[in-house]
Amino acid sequence: MKRLLIFALCYLMLLCVPLLMSWVLPNSQDLPPRPLRDDLASGLAMVGFTAVLLEFFLLGRFRPISRALGSDLAMQAHQLLARTALVFLVLHPFLYSLWGSAQKPWDDSYAQALRISGGSWGLFTALLALALLMSLVAMALGQARSRDYDRWRLWHGLLALGVLGLGLHHTLESGRYAQLPWLRWYWWALAMLAVASWLGVYLWRPWWQSRRAYHLNRVSALAQKIWEVEISPLAGKPLKFVAGQFAWLKLGSLAPYQDHPFSISSVPEPSGQLRFIVKEAGDFTRALPNTASNTVAYVDGPYGNFAIPASAPAIVMLAGGIGIAPFISLLSASVQQGERRPIRLVYAEHDVSQMVSLQALCACGQLADFQLLPMVESPPEGWTGLVGRLDATGLALALSHEAVAPLAAQAHYMVCGPGAMMDAAEACLLARGVAADRVQSEHFQYNFSGRSPRALALRRGWLGLSLAAGLLSLLVLALRSLRA
Ligand SMILES: Cc1cc2nc3c(=O)[nH]c(=O)nc-3n(C[C@H](O)[C@H](O)[C@H](O)COP(=O)(O)OP(=O)(O)OC[C@H]3O[C@@H](n4cnc5c(N)ncnc54)[C@H](O)[C@@H]3O)c2cc1C
Repeated sequence: MKRLLIFALCYLMLLCVPLLMSWVLPNSQDLPPRPLRDDLASGLAMVGFTAVLLEFFLLGRFRPISRALGSDLAMQAHQLLARTALVFLVLHPFLYSLWGSAQKPWDDSYAQALRISGGSWGLFTALLALALLMSLVAMALGQARSRDYDRWRLWHGLLALGVLGLGLHHTLESGRYAQLPWLRWYWWALAMLAVASWLGVYLWRPWWQSRRAYHLNRVSALAQKIWEVEISPLAGKPLKFVAGQFAWLKLGSLAPYQDHPFSISSVPEPSGQLRFIVKEAGDFTRALPNTASNTVAYVDGPYGNFAIPASAPAIVMLAGGIGIAPFISLLSASVQQGERRPIRLVYAEHDVSQMVSLQALCACGQLADFQLLPMVESPPEGWTGLVGRLDATGLALALSHEAVAPLAAQAHYMVCGPGAMMDAAEACLLARGVAADRVQSEHFQYNFSGRSPRALALRRGWLGLSLAAGLLSLLVLALRSLRA
């Protein structure tokens, strides 16, 4: 939560930089006076366009951001803040005091009525940028229904670049304060950094990966529709990562939009070998069993921060289905490090045929104080584990188990699994009085519309941040008019 607060404050400060520049830059006072609402419109546009440019950094696969926030939170921030940018940018033309201004007969573009300098080109790029931004957000909201995720990603990246280019043209051509030289340079610099971040993902990383390629050793069946994928480096240094992190994997293709995120289920090895546990979900994962060994593989990583905190006195892991993958790496690392703290793992699946063998994968039996609590919905005859699913009832059952109950009050909880399970687990833990910073989650879906108190708190935080950005714009504008 503290990290999130720091992120929110830094983000808010960055949003307001152009506003502040338009206020404090020496020659800003030379501009002719105009109504406050026109200034408010410019303010919203500056904040909105800054938010659009900052989006590129949230998606830029910067490890410090991913480590500090976690990739899932960075992605959720990206999704939510895009909405703020859209609202600010769509609102801003309507705030100009254009309603009272008559259109001149020779101004068939309405540019003068809209007080747009740069003539019809400034207006044209503004409208196109807004149309692209609206399509981008609409396509992102409908992404869950799209069948071809890779193609959607490609279009998302291209449209985003279009919004950036058109938005920059409109800002430089028509923005009143962009006529101030320092602010003009600022827009150029921020936009170029955003483009560099885009190029980093779409060009630089594929090039870098091509020089550190891997090859596929094997794909072996672990359980029903669950595969273990093993790859080894062809050249280059082994990937440095810590247990619980994930990497983007591509097989056979270097195309930047065709990589898929998977938790690394192995621990760092001198040979650089990496293993992933993958459940069939769509095109890429279903094709895995038929992929020829020796196929070239590319890895981008490591990302994420799903690590056991050093200060936790005990750990309760809650895994649903393929959410077991990062725990295998965490348990293997714990075995290697001779971990002595109590660790409990509740591993829930629909039925036993979908469960992987933990002992074979991570030798967790060697841990000093470990207990596995398997949970299935359809138990076979003679089943001695828990019965149910990891919802509120199942979680209550697991937490009251004699192996978990004594640890429940001080344990650190780590949750990974399907979205609904994670919502239920987080809601249930928080309702039991577990402090939010003792609940750590790794989401495998980026389009999460979670209902857990945690997800709701995030959304409240986002609304607060957007409101604060709007209020700060007003404050700066009021201060500016006082100074004038
Ligand atoms: C941080 C993280 C770690 C993950 N770890 C694992 C793991 O260890 N094992 C495992 O089986 N699955 C894991 N997943 C989920 C895995 O990435 C998807 O199941 C896989 O990408 C599906 O690809 P597909 O082409 O087979 O299916 P598709 O039909 O293309 O996708 C099914 C769904 O998977 C998601 N998805 C697909 N491609 C991507 C992508 N490039 N980026 C983000 N989401 C995508 C989308 O929500 C999509 O709707 C993880 C996801 C994330 C975000």
